[in-house]
Amino acid sequence: MFTERIYNFSAGPSMLPESVLKQAASELLNFGGSGTSVMEMSHRSKDFLAIFEETKALLKEVMGIPETHEALFLPGGAWMQFAMVPMNLIGTTGKADYAVTGNFSQLAMKEAKKYGDIHIACDSADLNHTYIPRQADLNLRPDAAYFHYCSNNTIYGTEWDYIPEASVPLVCDMSSNILSKPVDVSKYGLIYAGAQKNMAPAGLGVVVIDKNLVGNELPVTPTMLSYKAMVEADSMHNTPPCYNIYMLGLVLKWIKSEGGLVGMQAKNVEKAKVLYDYLDETTFYKSPVQKEVRSMMNVPFVTGNEDLDNAFCKEAEKKGLSNLKGHRNVGGMRASIYNAMPKAGLEALVAFMKEFETKNR
Ligand SMILES: *Cc1c(COP(=O)(O)O)cnc(C)c1O
Repeated sequence: MFTERIYNFSAGPSMLPESVLKQAASELLNFGGSGTSVMEMSHRSKDFLAIFEETKALLKEVMGIPETHEALFLPGGAWMQFAMVPMNLIGTTGKADYAVTGNFSQLAMKEAKKYGDIHIACDSADLNHTYIPRQADLNLRPDAAYFHYCSNNTIYGTEWDYIPEASVPLVCDMSSNILSKPVDVSKYGLIYAGAQKNMAPAGLGVVVIDKNLVGNELPVTPTMLSYKAMVEADSMHNTPPCYNIYMLGLVLKWIKSEGGLVGMQAKNVEKAKVLYDYLDETTFYKSPVQKEVRSMMNVPFVTGNEDLDNAFCKEAEKKGLSNLKGHRNVGGMRASIYNAMPKAGLEALVAFMKEFETKNR
């Protein structure tokens, strides 16, 4: 039992900014004098359409989305995009290239195989995904319809330190680092992300797509999975995830008030430094990841002793440092430190790590 909010280091769903939760609570029963909750509103109502338009405008402003691109709010999180991307984009060439640098990019690649000729452009499994292949190591086909990669590997804790270059449209799964730093959206044909890490409650998928890529879906594509249908209906072919979209709007306002993505990046670098500086210093815990490409969002670390790792997680949990157990593919611990994790959470974690080290070394 906790009487205060804990620090939740979960990889997702994860923390939302406290001020956002408070605002949502304050208008839960009666949104802006409408007399109803956002949860109860018609998606065609004036009040909801205002929320929708504002959220979309905020996303475009905060991410710097150019006129060439459209933003979509879709159900099904990131996983639905694993299928939606190939169904809509593989088009006439029937070929696509995938970089495999972790769990989710591997899953996206496997799903895409149902729809065409999928080629692995690189695979970092040889060193358990502890590094990011360099541009020169990418084996890309000029006749691929697109090249897919995942910019931040949520489980393995690596983050691409460059935007790969390809002669074909670039498609990126940004689920675990979207809105964490500025990104040049014009370089991408399509960006997608599940909302539950840096954006909003789970279930919502955000897609930013170059309008030129819309309209080439395979004939079998269900209407609900057609970018064309969703662009034409402004994400409302059916009832969209209304409340999640409203929450995303609140989060985007919070990001703006924190200095936009430049401000977010500065905070994230400062926060991650608290943990990485300690990991560089201690010999008790080890980071399995190549230093140059370690993630600003997900930080795995291990003691090398499974019993100690388990004891660590158990004791941390009691202190309100929650969900630190690492993924079974990596073992040990993982601290997910998305936008909404305050610096004080990192300081509390490192203080606990030091205490645990002293007791168990
Ligand atoms: C969490 C995550 C996913 C899966 O998201 P869902 O919304 O559960 O489908 C996909 N890719 C990455 C990189 C993730 O971190």
